[in-house]
Amino acid sequence: MIDQARIAADRMVNSQLTARGVRDIAVLEAMRIVPRHLFVPEVTIQRAYSDHALTLTAGQTISQPYIVAHMTELLEVQPGMTVLEVGTGSGYQTAILSHLGAKVVTIERSAELLDRAKTILAEVCHGSLIRMLLADGTLGYPQDAPYDRILVTAAAPHVPAAYRQQLADPGRLVIPLGDRDGQTITVIDRMGADFIQTDDIACRFVPLVGEDGWGG
Ligand code: SAH
Repeated sequence: MIDQARIAADRMVNSQLTARGVRDIAVLEAMRIVPRHLFVPEVTIQRAYSDHALTLTAGQTISQPYIVAHMTELLEVQPGMTVLEVGTGSGYQTAILSHLGAKVVTIERSAELLDRAKTILAEVCHGSLIRMLLADGTLGYPQDAPYDRILVTAAAPHVPAAYRQQLADPGRLVIPLGDRDGQTITVIDRMGADFIQTDDIACRFVPLVGEDGWGG
């Protein structure tokens, strides 16, 4: 990473993440190392690491660094786990999961965004186990199930049925649930036949559009 980006990443971790209570060392390290600015080449380095979600070309959004770190911390990823991610977007969250040692299956419905993310991830996560799919992520991807973890980075009106079916036992799903204007980050733990739901903080994501989401 060039010096300016390294300094901006360090500052982001200290002032936005550690200061707000993100404690997981592996998550903080991933957020320090993954070059966020490469996923948002349209903006300056300073803006890339700023305390905001960014809306970029092709309607792409990249979540605020704190939300990425917080959701990743909630997911409790261990090296070697298989993680399904829905809503590849820029590919930044994918890179964070991959950096934690997960085998990532990521689904995006926009071909333009997926192609762009593929190019960047080929460079940033060269040699990692990442499967990138162009599909409706509300249906999951049964071929690689069960998933130890499922992370959804788009707003869902309810938990798509496929996620319960494709979650490992034990397993954890993190998903923003609510309406189009506002959601709650929701953690769902599978223990046998039980799915235990815990509400976390308020958030605002773009809609999960698909057969078992919004407007399918
Ligand atoms: N995690 C991303 C940001 C995701 S923004 C990042 O780090 O950059 C939400 C993304 O979900 C958008 O790219 C949108 O196209 C995608 N999306 C919405 N509905 C989807 C669906 N049903 N399947 C797959 N992707 C979907």
